[in-house]
Amino acid sequence: MRISIAIHGGAGTMRVADLTAAMTDARHEGLRAALRAGWSVLRRGGSSLDAVTASVCALEDDRLFNAGHGAVLTDAGTIEMDAGIMNGADRRAGAVAGICGPRNPVLAARAVMETTSHLLMIGEGAHSVARDAGLIFAPADYFETPDRRAALDRELARRAANAPDTRSDADRHGTVGAVARDARGDLAAATSTGGMTGKRSGRVGDTPIIGAGTYADELCAVSCTGTGEVFIRYTAAAEIAARLRYNGEAIAGAAADVVAQLATHGGDGGLIALGAVGEPVLPFNSSGMYRGYVDAEGRLCTAIHREAFRFG
Ligand code: ASP
Repeated sequence: MRISIAIHGGAGTMRVADLTAAMTDARHEGLRAALRAGWSVLRRGGSSLDAVTASVCALEDDRLFNAGHGAVLTDAGTIEMDAGIMNGADRRAGAVAGICGPRNPVLAARAVMETTSHLLMIGEGAHSVARDAGLIFAPADYFETPDRRAALDRELARRAANAPDTRSDADRHGTVGAVARDARGDLAAATSTGGMTGKRSGRVGDTPIIGAGTYADELCAVSCTGTGEVFIRYTAAAEIAARLRYNGEAIAGAAADVVAQLATHGGDGGLIALGAVGEPVLPFNSSGMYRGYVDAEGRLCTAIHREAFRFG
């Protein structure tokens, strides 16, 4: 059975012109570190659920990506993170929304899945589940970085001046996610985000909505990034699963088509997906999407915009 993993660091990429060689290298290294974390789980015979958890934790810990440390800020200057996880074999799932406490929001989503009879929990209730599960908490200032605060300040100034929105994708949004297939052939998906810069406090995006931003069953695993409201309205991840199940489509075509359709409805972004045989697909309609996968030779393949993949 082929083991397989793909990850993304979100569609909120910096403009090509703004990325120095060192900044580009740092982003590739962050993606490779996350791939290594998940791949080593799969190589040891671990589950796809543990692999996506490990990869997403690595991306949450990396300040360059919008999740965990380095999450974007709301219009109130707070950090409110969402995360979701799903195990394809039995369709167990867990999700959290609007949290700022557990150091790794994906672990809080997994705690909801594994220690409660619920699926989606918010705010303080989600914190108490995480606390009961013994998760590590971090103070609010652990999550905030100067770059994210500056992006919010620019956005609030723009709104006050009623100026047109010419922000880079990096200033708008981002997310992290992983999909994996283990040696038993089981699939899993996980996604984690700070959401959209300057979002209204209390807003929840597609990431913790099972079937929108995160989904896994026995046919596919999907993790999305982009304009969350549109991904929810078009049940983006579930739409891919339905095309495979009822239409007999191949994963590559189904995923590319859904991403193209989202674009026509204002849904900027992309997704990563694995089908039942483990072939990764990583389509996006935005200028870029931080992304990576491990190829059949075991090489770590990473890319940011539309350039060729780097092999690490
Ligand atoms: N989908 C995320 C949200 O709407 C943002 C992103 O992926 O860029 O919260």
